[in-house]
Amino acid sequence: MSETGDFHVVDCGPKGNALFTSRRFEEGETIYMLDYWTKEVMPMHMTNHSCSPNSEFNDEGRLVALRDLEKNEEITYNYILVPLPASPWNFECQCKSDDCRGWISVNTL
Ligand SMILES: [Zn+2]
Repeated sequence: MSETGDFHVVDCGPKGNALFTSRRFEEGETIYMLDYWTKEVMPMHMTNHSCSPNSEFNDEGRLVALRDLEKNEEITYNYILVPLPASPWNFECQCKSDDCRGWISVNTL
């Protein structure tokens, strides 16, 4: 995975890897481009789902910040909004937000 100085991967134990900001991002700023296929490990693979995410993919395939992000915040987006045929999601959500839907499955799309 390319180290751009924009984000880094943190090992969060049982939850697995997570992507964290390495600097501040302003609302609407691009964090990275959607890329799931060109390399084995891309930032997108490391970004965790949240039912109350702080970023989302726009129509151009850019992951943009939904609000100002502080340095060292975990970056999350809503997997349900980005259906990828290669990713048969079926897991219990750990986001703990008030809007959490609990179980994330492609079958709930
Ligand atoms: Zn959740």
